[in-house]
Amino acid sequence: MPKKNTVPANAGLAVLFAFLAGAAVSGKADPFLLHVPLLSWGFGLILLACIATALRGAFVGRPAFARLGAAFGLTFLAICAVHFSAHDATYGYPASSLFIAYYAVVLLYASLGAAQVWLGVVALILCTELWSLFAAGYLNVFGSSEWRELLLHRVSPLVRPMAGLVLSGLIPFVIGRIKTAGEKSQKSTSPGRPAPLEASPPRLAATQASSPIPTSAAPSKTQIMMLEQDTGIYNKSGMDDLLSSVVYFMSRNFKAYSALGFVFDPQKKVFILNSFHSKNYSIIAGLEIPLGKGIVGRVGMEKNSFMSGDLSLYPEKLLYYGASEAINSALVVPILSDARELLGALVVDSMDKNWFTEQNKDTMRRFSVLAAALITNVRMRLYQEKAAKSFQIFYEASQQFITALRTSQVFDVLFRMIGLLTPATRMITVTFNEQTRRGVVHKVVGPSPDIAEGLEFPINAGLYSYSFTKRAIVNIGAFQAYRGKYYRFLDNESSNPAIQSLIIIPIFDDEQRILGLLSIESDAPNQFAGETEKYLSTLLGNASVAITRAQLYQKMETLATTDGLTLLNNHRTFQEVLAKEVERSRRYGRPLSLLMMDIDHFKKFNDTYGHPVGDLVLKEISGCIRQSIRINDIAARYGGEEFTVIIPETGPEGAMVIAERIRRTVEQHTIVSLDNRLHVTISLGCAVMPLVATAQQPLIDAADKALYFSKERGRNRTTLFSPEMGQQE
Ligand code: GH3
Ligand code: MG
Ligand code: MG
Repeated sequence: MPKKNTVPANAGLAVLFAFLAGAAVSGKADPFLLHVPLLSWGFGLILLACIATALRGAFVGRPAFARLGAAFGLTFLAICAVHFSAHDATYGYPASSLFIAYYAVVLLYASLGAAQVWLGVVALILCTELWSLFAAGYLNVFGSSEWRELLLHRVSPLVRPMAGLVLSGLIPFVIGRIKTAGEKSQKSTSPGRPAPLEASPPRLAATQASSPIPTSAAPSKTQIMMLEQDTGIYNKSGMDDLLSSVVYFMSRNFKAYSALGFVFDPQKKVFILNSFHSKNYSIIAGLEIPLGKGIVGRVGMEKNSFMSGDLSLYPEKLLYYGASEAINSALVVPILSDARELLGALVVDSMDKNWFTEQNKDTMRRFSVLAAALITNVRMRLYQEKAAKSFQIFYEASQQFITALRTSQVFDVLFRMIGLLTPATRMITVTFNEQTRRGVVHKVVGPSPDIAEGLEFPINAGLYSYSFTKRAIVNIGAFQAYRGKYYRFLDNESSNPAIQSLIIIPIFDDEQRILGLLSIESDAPNQFAGETEKYLSTLLGNASVAITRAQLYQKMETLATTDGLTLLNNHRTFQEVLAKEVERSRRYGRPLSLLMMDIDHFKKFNDTYGHPVGDLVLKEISGCIRQSIRINDIAARYGGEEFTVIIPETGPEGAMVIAERIRRTVEQHTIVSLDNRLHVTISLGCAVMPLVATAQQPLIDAADKALYFSKERGRNRTTLFSPEMGQQE
């Protein structure tokens, strides 16, 4: 069976032979080269090497291109034989022995197969020859005798056979490449030929899933990747060539034109061509035939063998040939497990009518029992491997969840692990906005042309809304089949034509409250069927424990760092932040300002209006501070009714502006308590590093001293610390 990676090498070999043959011709025809005796010997040696390579290639079991190589080797042999035997061979068209040998080789190549390709080659060669005749006639009338001599008797005999040989090497190669590329891109859409079955029954939803991504849209890179991953389990790892020996014996035993073994993929409901042995070159490994389609698909559906000696009686086709083939007989048997579960199908066909007998049918059934045992064994092994891999992923996930202290970290782990567990085109998390009562797309991982993070959608009739309100998993294997009927977020959303599978799983906290949704979308159909849903739910179960813990941790962290009454940073946090800022200021020589403030006559205020009203004042003042500072400034409750603001990267002028802004805001603010409209004022002190201090405590002391000055001078004012204040004490 031709392996993909050997194609270029074999084609390269074929082209090399072609060039050597051309070179041999030119060597024999060119009077200059004829005078160099070593060249003839050189060609003799190259000839031997070519024959050896060609024979080896032909018998090592890689038919198509190796035979092509052999054909060229033989060409070379024939041409050289003609030359060595007939020394003064003439090159006159068309009777010379050289040309007869050349056409003999083309015919030999034709007899080895690839009939339609060969026709193209011959057509092209004929055109070349006709053109040559035409040019000769033209030159005879109009050309100068010198040019005529050169073109007709010197150049043309060299160029024609060379061009012919190169073409017969290159054309099959190029056609083969184009066909392979074309069929690969259509692999998931139309296995076999696109001709639909006339009498096919309506498909199940699941079967529809494996049909069209519109063929007009070229598959994206991810799409191809997905297809490969997707079919990987059935035609790569483990299943690779699983049925090859069965197919080989079938082919021998029945003298079949083609013998094929298909493995059935129950998730995608398609037969995947696993191994084949054929005289035809248009069959492609990995080709898929959906259940119910064509003769093979029907055998799968009915689980009964099919035998016919005259296929023209049936509307269904075999679907595995790339071009129409004159097949008359076919014998197809399903591969079934002991429990009659469909595992695959075996096929043999023949060009002869009534080729297969009842006895053959019986033998094929025995082959199918053998194939069933092979497939069951490998499936079991793959299942165990998958289970072991999932277990490993769960273990790693739980280890990593333990160290994830923030919800964002939990989701990072989750996304990574899901990526290992199942192929995903993109993953989305959705949360619920309590204020707007709408769902919000929280995070999107992977390419997302149609949805952006932050998208809000009403909780009504979309699939994501459904999962939210019903607290249920939504698992769809054929999203495109529901297009126009269901939408995901918004009823006017641009429905992404690439999405085929979609699973939405709600995430709950430990009290079974819904925290959000996680969804995985894929460009391949039926991605989340069977075990996958179970694995994902288990993983999300673990994640939700981690999310609850992370939320608790975040809550505790907030409690430990903020002041409960004012929700500003508490004293400890203030000291920690200031230490860092002082260090930074010192290291980079940047200014750092500190404000200290204290409510004026607050004791009296408390005495007059009561402690609870005093507390209200503290809250309102912290609001005034918050609205007067910038995003990088850090406000804290220093103690009882004292506040502080750390102002990084700011010198005295800037700090005084902020301080005054706070003071005025408080002064103008009215606090409404019961029937009272109350006003308070504050006094502030400001100190700047490195102007008046170079360490943390001296900076605090300086700001405190400036505050004392403000109090001294009548309150409701701001004082910038200057060194004289220190001396005054
Ligand atoms: P001054 O203008 O000199 O600052 O006068 P003052 O009365 O504000 O004096 P001081 O700053 O020493 O007053 C501290 C008072 O602040 C004592 C206490 O009644 C009040 N206080 C401290 N913490 C709280 C608190 O958490 N809630 C309330 N309601 N009052 C507090
Ligand atoms: Mg005080
Ligand atoms: Mg006070």
